[in-house]
Amino acid sequence: MTDLPPDEPRLRQILAHLDRQLAETETVGVYLRLQRDAVRQALAATDRPPPGPAPAPARPAVEAPRPAEYMVEQRLQAGHPLAAAVHVAGCRQTERETRAVSAGDARQALTGDPKFFRACDFCQPRRVLGLE
Ligand SMILES: [Zn+2]
Repeated sequence: MTDLPPDEPRLRQILAHLDRQLAETETVGVYLRLQRDAVRQALAATDRPPPGPAPAPARPAVEAPRPAEYMVEQRLQAGHPLAAAVHVAGCRQTERETRAVSAGDARQALTGDPKFFRACDFCQPRRVLGLE
């Protein structure tokens, strides 16, 4: 990685290119984590016994789950042209399965490539995150 040009314009161009590549990669990472979670959930569903009186789920007494700040609504299907929608937690304008995400992941998703994620027009997560 030492074959860099000596002049500032080309160095700045290379830096900008690498920054774009990093942002794209991180967006894809968020998307892939969400997809992986969906697959894990589907896999867990295949292991479940048939519905019936279920025992109460065991919860750790110390660690309470943090409320989700944002959520991502999955695409209609993998590869559907309409990107997955990012919502503020509690938004009622969802039609499909949602998954809780942190503010950091929501921010990452909404600042990345719009072909993967879009902001909900109703709850406006971009505004809540201070992105506009
Ligand atoms: Zn929404």
